[in-house]
Amino acid sequence: MTIFEKIVAGEIPCNKVLENDKFLAFNDINPKAPIHILIIPKKHFKNFQEMDATLMGKMTKFIQEVATLMGLDKSGYRLITNNGENGGQEVMHLHFHMLGGAKLNWTDAATDPQSTF
Ligand code: AMP
Repeated sequence: MTIFEKIVAGEIPCNKVLENDKFLAFNDINPKAPIHILIIPKKHFKNFQEMDATLMGKMTKFIQEVATLMGLDKSGYRLITNNGENGGQEVMHLHFHMLGGAKLNWTDAATDPQSTF
């Protein structure tokens, strides 16, 4: 079981931002921006490549609700999902990183392997 599935199961605590029956948003433990929220489906999918397209439609709405709750719908944000080894995915349960609260840098991840967000 991944750490995010343990969070969904209530076995590990999280700093919750928003929740419904299908999705959960919580603060990243190691924030890379003033606001850094992780948004996950409660059902297990290894990553975006394996995500169900119909559920993704519902998840889109939930992600938008998180942004609005945080005021990021107005100020802007970045949404990222690391997919697989070259994508730098560490936790093998689909999650979107929502980053905001400041103007974010944009480096060329294709040519700069050291680049983060
Ligand atoms: P990724 O590299 O895309 O798989 O990102 C995994 C993210 O999960 C990292 O940003 C970690 O800081 C974050 N993370 C790992 N464990 C926890 C946890 N228990 N609570 C909150 N965030 C976590």
